Amino acid sequence: MALVNIHFLNLQNNYLFADIAKKVNAFKVMHPKADVISLGIGDVTQPLCPAVIEAMHKATDEMASSATFRGYGPEQGYDFLREAIVKNDFLPRGIRLDADEIYINDGAKSDTGNFQELLHWDNFIGVTDPIYPVYIDSNVMIGRCGTYRNGKWTNVAYMPITAENGFVPEIPKNRHVDVIYLCCPNNPTGTVIGKQDLRKFVNYALKHDALILFDAAYQAYIRDPEIPHSIYEIRGARKCAVEFRSYSKTAGFTGVRCGYTIVPKDVSVATFEGERIPLSQLWNRRQCTKFNGTSYISQRAAEAIYSPEGKAQVQATIDYYMDNASRMLTTLRSLGYECYGGENAPYIWMRTPHNTPSWQFFEELLYGAHVVCTPGVGFGPSGDGYVRFTAFGSREQTEEALNRITNWTKSH
Ligand SMILES: *Cc1c(COP(=O)(O)O)cnc(C)c1O
Repeated sequence: MALVNIHFLNLQNNYLFADIAKKVNAFKVMHPKADVISLGIGDVTQPLCPAVIEAMHKATDEMASSATFRGYGPEQGYDFLREAIVKNDFLPRGIRLDADEIYINDGAKSDTGNFQELLHWDNFIGVTDPIYPVYIDSNVMIGRCGTYRNGKWTNVAYMPITAENGFVPEIPKNRHVDVIYLCCPNNPTGTVIGKQDLRKFVNYALKHDALILFDAAYQAYIRDPEIPHSIYEIRGARKCAVEFRSYSKTAGFTGVRCGYTIVPKDVSVATFEGERIPLSQLWNRRQCTKFNGTSYISQRAAEAIYSPEGKAQVQATIDYYMDNASRMLTTLRSLGYECYGGENAPYIWMRTPHNTPSWQFFEELLYGAHVVCTPGVGFGPSGDGYVRFTAFGSREQTEEALNRITNWTKSH
């Protein structure tokens, strides 16, 4: 008898974006003529930049000739990309990494989900609340999170990030945490963690032999020069942190698929006997068994964003989205809404008026203004009373959505 992995049955079935789609569809059935604008889902809208397109065409042509054809590449990624990453993403920030500490992947979601399988099942994990759902769900799948009660997993330390604490997570005091997930800039709140606060986490990890899994998918959106782009800007992080990065939000690669994970050689985990095992050794072994590399064309595309033209073009698109974000902040705040994020990230995290529950506000906005947001509670219990707006829309759609929100807010 083939038995099911029962941990999968513990997963909360309702996937946030499926729930949203269901509610939007119900609205559309009742209002077939209404044109709904979505500032909900976190996908980009602007096309790939010319430098990337050119590199992809060139790589495709190479595939067409036996002299330049590429089959299986290295599971860890091609050196041309690993070296470009070290040189462009880290050296300018004073971080020295070896190219063989970089593992190219098909996007950060896979690796943030997969990495937990290197760790013993009864490690105790800590996450900020609210947070990107992949971290918890991938741990649920292996049976690490306990049971789900009142919107929370019994074996997860939730570190609330709310307006009340300035969106700075506090390290749990009552229980030792083995593995800490941090996402900075944060999805969904769009808020960031400063060096001093990040240093507290690194120091905790060093002192208590914990592991930090740091998701920097949105680092390209950071504008404040004081905010670290990488956890390796903090001394000691090389010994206790793994970092995930993605070209999805940086360069519009959500459909191309490429990112990378940094596993420094100094990060290790313990056996019960106290032996230290380097995580890089385990991750390399895991990747060689379960992963056959990111496509050559995607890796050439990623390499192209490090050319002078590529850098300028990618930056122009980021500026475009951040201009959306600043228009959204200005308008929403002028209407009296309390907004966070949007300054170093393409997300606006808005408190609903009068503590309206997230889902209720979501429906009011959908029916009143025909605009879709994402209910904050979908990212964790502390997200209730907030909604997320993305700045990834086109300028026209963003402006139109803001006009509708303005008229709706003023009319009731
Ligand atoms: C979008 C996103 C990613 C990246 O996903 P990809 O698989 O690289 O497309 C990773 N982490 C967070 C928090 C994200 O929002």
